[in-house]
Amino acid sequence: MTHTKRQSLQRIAAHLGFPDSETLIGLWDVMVSEREAAWIAELPATARELAERLGEDLGGEDTSGEDAGDVAEGLADLYGRGLVLRSEQPDGDTRYVAESNAGVLMDLILFDRRYLAWHGQAFLDRWRRFYNEELVHTYEHPDPDSRPFRVVPVREQVHDPRTALPYEQVAALVRDARRISLEHCPCRTREQACESPLETCLAFDQVADYMIERGVGREIDAAEALAVLGRCEEQGLVHITENADRPLVLCNCCPCCCVFLRAMTVHAKRDVIDASRYRAVVDQARCIACGLCVERCHFRAMALDGAAQVAEERCLGCGLCATTCPAEAIRLVETQAPGFIPRQDSGFGSIVQG
Ligand code: SF4
Ligand code: SF4
Repeated sequence: MTHTKRQSLQRIAAHLGFPDSETLIGLWDVMVSEREAAWIAELPATARELAERLGEDLGGEDTSGEDAGDVAEGLADLYGRGLVLRSEQPDGDTRYVAESNAGVLMDLILFDRRYLAWHGQAFLDRWRRFYNEELVHTYEHPDPDSRPFRVVPVREQVHDPRTALPYEQVAALVRDARRISLEHCPCRTREQACESPLETCLAFDQVADYMIERGVGREIDAAEALAVLGRCEEQGLVHITENADRPLVLCNCCPCCCVFLRAMTVHAKRDVIDASRYRAVVDQARCIACGLCVERCHFRAMALDGAAQVAEERCLGCGLCATTCPAEAIRLVETQAPGFIPRQDSGFGSIVQG
């Protein structure tokens, strides 16, 4: 790596909140050329602005022929590889920005299966190291207003469905979506810690437009999306979505690979995501003490003491225990008022806003 390229990559790493991360700088080194690194470090800008700003020599590369058309083509290619975002301006021009959320950037890259063909397993190993040694330590959110994601209960397990808001019902999220796409899970692609299926991430509306345009998402209809959710529930995957009143992504997460759940179950981080507004309650008279719910709960919220007992402070209200109970002894009851959510957009809002 030349000194000039390293300088650009350090600026990009600093923008992502990891100015001293050699792992992140090394990842960028294999993903972009020196010229592309210089462009990204200079964003935000339109292609015309960037061409004007970089009209001189860049790190030994002759850029005297740099024109807005070449730069526009290059930026569009970077966008297609998930390395920059863009937004259309009122005057019809396109403005490009560099993603500032390292977790979102990691996902936008790892959604794209081409990276595996280009860079192989070593690329995933580096991302795994970056997540487990650096990124995960930023995932505690003691301030409830800063938690980007939350759990959504499994379908049909809420005891009184009238209490469920439209955006905390997975079926309603699917039904209300203008467009739906299905992607390979970037977390399981990176972590490779289980055998759960890969094609489980759903995106809606503007984020689905983005995924389909980039070619990393497959457009599906509501019926297929509901079938995906059903399979994910059978597999014991936890529904997680953005803490927003119109979520644009719906993940189906395992405790061993998901950036959020792994932070909790493997790295013992607290306050990573919000629970749903519900908690599991066991009807002790119906419980036959089979222990299936204890096995099913990823968060050690269930224990057997004669009958099943719920440790309420550990329960995230996912409902997976209820779907496996042979005695139908578990139900989800509302424990938080509707005002508990929503609060904000997750980092995925940047895809839409550019
Ligand atoms: S006890 Fe465990 S499996 Fe059941 S709802 Fe709570 S977190 Fe989910
Ligand atoms: S799965 Fe149902 S019956 Fe079995 S221990 Fe849990 S609550 Fe009891």
